[in-house]
Amino acid sequence: MEVRKRIALVGHDNRKQELVDWVEHNWETLIEQKLVCTGTTGRLIEEALLKKNKEYDSNRTPSIVKLKSGPLGGDQQLGAMISENKIDIVIFFWDPMQPQPHDVDVKALLRIAVLYNVVIANNRSTADFVITSLLFHQRYQPRVADFSEYTNRKL
Ligand code: PGA
Repeated sequence: MEVRKRIALVGHDNRKQELVDWVEHNWETLIEQKLVCTGTTGRLIEEALLKKNKEYDSNRTPSIVKLKSGPLGGDQQLGAMISENKIDIVIFFWDPMQPQPHDVDVKALLRIAVLYNVVIANNRSTADFVITSLLFHQRYQPRVADFSEYTNRKL
């Protein structure tokens, strides 16, 4: 059975082109999924998918939710979605060469993705492995640690 994955796509400015290239390369798979993007990344990805759609005379409409731009709260919105089990995979090409004004939000997003054990790719090689994985097309429920001891702690 085909399973639609809920995929978050985020690219920092210097890595947006690489992310768009990856999306164009995998457009046929990605256009079938539910995509959630930070604002600017989402605009570029939507343009890329619509271009491919037209080029190949296909009439599939991409499903893309565009959150706020990352530095304006989009990374935090995404983090909240991960904590609510609304995201299966995060493809996040962050910039290792340039400090970001929203560095704390970037860290928070990486942290929450690890905490909830969602699949996260931070570079193209990992993204390639993720999208070609057999598990990509299967139902997969990540094991999340039992936080009850923490939530019920005595204060
Ligand atoms: P943007 O945000 O897609 O709106 O540029 C990305 C980010 O920096 O988190």
